[in-house]
Amino acid sequence: MKQATSTTKHLSTNGLKRDLRPRGEQKAVVISDGIPRRTLSFYKYVKIADPVALQKELQERWGNLGCFGRIYIAHEGINAQMNVPVKSWDQFDAFMKNKPEFYGIPYKFAVEEGQIPSFYKLTIKVRKKVVADGLDDESFDVTNTGAYLTAEEMNEYINNPDAVVVDMRNSYESEIGHFEGAIRPRVDTFRDELALVPEILKEHKGKKVALYCTGGIRCEKASAWLKHKGFTDVKHLKGGVIDYKHQVEREGLDNHFKGKNFVFDERLGERIGDEVISYCHLCKTNKSDQHYHCQNQVCHVLFLGCDSCIEKKHGYCSYYCMTFDRLPASWKKKYASWYNARRRTQQFKKARLQG
Ligand SMILES: [Zn+2]
Ligand SMILES: [Zn+2]
Repeated sequence: MKQATSTTKHLSTNGLKRDLRPRGEQKAVVISDGIPRRTLSFYKYVKIADPVALQKELQERWGNLGCFGRIYIAHEGINAQMNVPVKSWDQFDAFMKNKPEFYGIPYKFAVEEGQIPSFYKLTIKVRKKVVADGLDDESFDVTNTGAYLTAEEMNEYINNPDAVVVDMRNSYESEIGHFEGAIRPRVDTFRDELALVPEILKEHKGKKVALYCTGGIRCEKASAWLKHKGFTDVKHLKGGVIDYKHQVEREGLDNHFKGKNFVFDERLGERIGDEVISYCHLCKTNKSDQHYHCQNQVCHVLFLGCDSCIEKKHGYCSYYCMTFDRLPASWKKKYASWYNARRRTQQFKKARLQG
């Protein structure tokens, strides 16, 4: 089969240009182009009248500036994780400041850029919600969010026996890094987290509650949800772990976040504390907080690997995946659906049961 060439772009059903080059090719081009980029994330709950029109506008403008990233737009707002070429920064920033919906939006800059670019394509999607939370927004007051906490205030909560700190992220995120003493629910999705946290907090009734997540967006909804559930003193860390790190450095505060902050891009994590707090999922012996995606594209499971296991298994999560990947392409395709149905759940469980 002939692959799309580097310049091939096709119209997708919604009329937007879609880059049909294989993933590896897109990535290789961006890695080798040497263009300095700035990684940032931002979100805003704001009424967006026509998400599809905004999607087209951003695709065109940000595409022309050479931006890459993953952006979700909904009637309720925007959630963006992206990078901007340093040379296009002023234009990007001017556009944001002139767009009434985005005015005053706080940027959260990456703590570290890493060896590889954070994103290598621009994906802008229209969704029902900017974060999949499984909540019925009509059933409670989503605007009744908790007050914000600064990094300094967060540190006070951590040292206060009359306060509880809750990690609103999934287990695979909190496994590699979290605040000292934080409650870390064992969940795979934010939806499960929102169902579980009110139950967990029942035994801490009367205590002050502090929530945190990667960049702050999940806690906006979660704090309003917990207040609706009867917890009166709920606050959340402004700008999440990313901004906590910046404040700690700027203001010379103690860092109470141990390990790495998981991020949803090619870097997979930013180092916040120096220590490695998690173990390799394959040998369960060596410490590691380096996530990998299994080299077998059908499996693609996220796991923690130590150098020795990664070398031994050539970046695969198991000998099974290593063997599977050596099958001829036609066989792989044939077995992919079977494999996805039978093996993926097992693999995923294997990866998440640790820590
Ligand atoms: Zn290992
Ligand atoms: Zn695998």
